[in-house]
Amino acid sequence: MKNLLTTLSMALCAALLLTSCQEATDTQRDADNGPNAQAVADNNEIYTLPDLAYDYDALEPHIDAKTMEIHHSRHHQAYINNFNDAIAGTPLENMSLEEIMKNISEHSMTVRNNGGGHYNHALFWEVMSPDGGGEPEGDLAAAIDEAFGSLENFKEEFHRHGMTQFGSGWAWLIVDENGDLKVTQTPNQDNPLMDVVPDDERGTPILGVDVWEHGYYLHYQNRRGDYINAFWNVVNWDAVSEKYQQALAS
Ligand code: MN
Repeated sequence: MKNLLTTLSMALCAALLLTSCQEATDTQRDADNGPNAQAVADNNEIYTLPDLAYDYDALEPHIDAKTMEIHHSRHHQAYINNFNDAIAGTPLENMSLEEIMKNISEHSMTVRNNGGGHYNHALFWEVMSPDGGGEPEGDLAAAIDEAFGSLENFKEEFHRHGMTQFGSGWAWLIVDENGDLKVTQTPNQDNPLMDVVPDDERGTPILGVDVWEHGYYLHYQNRRGDYINAFWNVVNWDAVSEKYQQALAS
């Protein structure tokens, strides 16, 4: 049925040669996504897309509204749909997301990529805010100074990890098992909770930046460095501090 519709819409495009061809294709793509999304919502709604605490355009000019909308409503939603489909009817349904991450080597690549995708993006939205930027305060500020010498040194190291992550992935600020801060990077949708990450790079992420091209390409094209520089203007240090305290307490 989908093939038939696609064939028909392609034939229509060829016949009419109108600018609406792209529109027709997009509509068809949405139609393809629709029934699946609905089925997940009805049957496998184990994880759901978290609402943002701000509007899609709230992080402008640092992160543009279109990128935020596509990133949240399409990319993140797709990770959730695929993750739900993968774990529905399995014991993973009843495990916490963190528990799944920590034993990820025991699970499929589908669970690893999409469960990681959900965890990472949920954290990413939380550590940004239109009221962000500035500097951390209190215990977190002291811990950053102790671990990196200064906030500037930390930012440089974080930036370097974002820049040197070849291809898609993430740069992280983590709290390791000793309660110390470290900067790390992971490929794809891996994260520092996962047992596939080297021991000395494992820990609880409290800040992360998504360096997949889908996170910046519309506005920054290939200028990943400009995107990471702009990211500091929207970092929600209060949220990062809260995650720091939670990580220390866990
Ligand atoms: Mn992403």
